[in-house]
Amino acid sequence: MVTTPLLPSDYLDLVSPLRAGADLRGRIEAVHPETGDAATIVIRPGRGWRGHTAGQYVRIGVDVDGVRLWRAYSITSPTNRQDGRVTITVKAIPDGKVSNHLVCRAKPGTLIQLDQPTGDFVLPQAMPAKVLYLTAGSGITPVMGMLRDIEFDDVVMVHCAPQPQDVIFRNELHDLVADKKLRLTEVHTDTDGMLDIARLDALVPDWAERETWACGPAGLLDAAEEHWTEHGVQERLHTERFRPSVVVAGDGGGEVTFSATGKTVDADGATPLLDIGEEAGVLMPSGCRMGICFGCITPLKAGAVRDLRTGEITEAEPGVLIQTCVSAAAGPCDIER
Ligand SMILES: Cc1cc2nc3c(=O)[nH]c(=O)nc-3n(C[C@H](O)[C@H](O)[C@H](O)COP(=O)(O)OP(=O)(O)OC[C@H]3O[C@@H](n4cnc5c(N)ncnc54)[C@H](O)[C@@H]3O)c2cc1C
Repeated sequence: MVTTPLLPSDYLDLVSPLRAGADLRGRIEAVHPETGDAATIVIRPGRGWRGHTAGQYVRIGVDVDGVRLWRAYSITSPTNRQDGRVTITVKAIPDGKVSNHLVCRAKPGTLIQLDQPTGDFVLPQAMPAKVLYLTAGSGITPVMGMLRDIEFDDVVMVHCAPQPQDVIFRNELHDLVADKKLRLTEVHTDTDGMLDIARLDALVPDWAERETWACGPAGLLDAAEEHWTEHGVQERLHTERFRPSVVVAGDGGGEVTFSATGKTVDADGATPLLDIGEEAGVLMPSGCRMGICFGCITPLKAGAVRDLRTGEITEAEPGVLIQTCVSAAAGPCDIER
């Protein structure tokens, strides 16, 4: 009665937001610039944090201009960090709401929402004798988590970035090279051009014998998957994508109604309904934004949507749920938000 209309926990949140039993949160403790457009964010997770396995990612909820936005970031700190903090390393992308906020504006002391870490881009129980890390741009982050966690006798990394100064963690990588813990090839795409996957034969002659973890843009990962499959060693390749591979973008979109909010907007056949809703100011649940976490599922009340990964059309029926992050309008539709 004393705290009505709030709950006692709302007051506890003010004094002890990271306590056990509260919704999982974290406090940003520091922001360290890494390159011109990337920064490492040091987070002190709340008491309920269960810890991660190297290579996993965490979904974080950040308030940007009064709107809570959720994104996924790979954990770059080692699993045994003594002070219990975890780090993520974020590269600001042009027009990116959360990445620019975190890299340019996040302040120590800020509270963020956290999910438990997840993801299967991890090392196996039985450690492989030879490892290859194939990365580009911010795709280095889950691999850095692995490099900081576990040492292998024979590990090679091929990393692509436009220029030397764009290589995130460059000094640390070169320290590992100096200590003979890593063999590194940097491909500077501004001068060398994009990595032609066939060059691996020259760069890492025994690539096919290596257990490989690859993370980077879709073009690199698609080429790697094709190459490993052609050589019959696809089971040795593990990939992590930061964005869904859009296979089919429909030509025609349609009028999208968000019936709970009472908003109607025009949508093309290529833009995810999650983006359409957020743009229209509709409160949309979201998660990984690439169809893996199901954090965005929403009832489709009427009409049809297209899965941007497969081209599959889903039509409204009672109880039908869609993943708004990988679905676009395939004609007029009504989304229950
Ligand atoms: C499992 C997983 C792990 C990830 N780990 C990291 C990480 O460690 N470090 C990191 O920096 N990012 C990581 N990401 C990407 C991150 O979740 C966000 O997608 C990214 O920061 C962009 O969010 P934003 O809000 O800034 O962009 P938005 O405002 O959502 O998008 C702005 C524009 O950029 C495009 N866009 C969205 N995402 C990307 C992208 N990844 N690359 C290029 N263009 C994009 C959009 O289509 C849109 O046009 C990860 C993603 C996943 C799924």
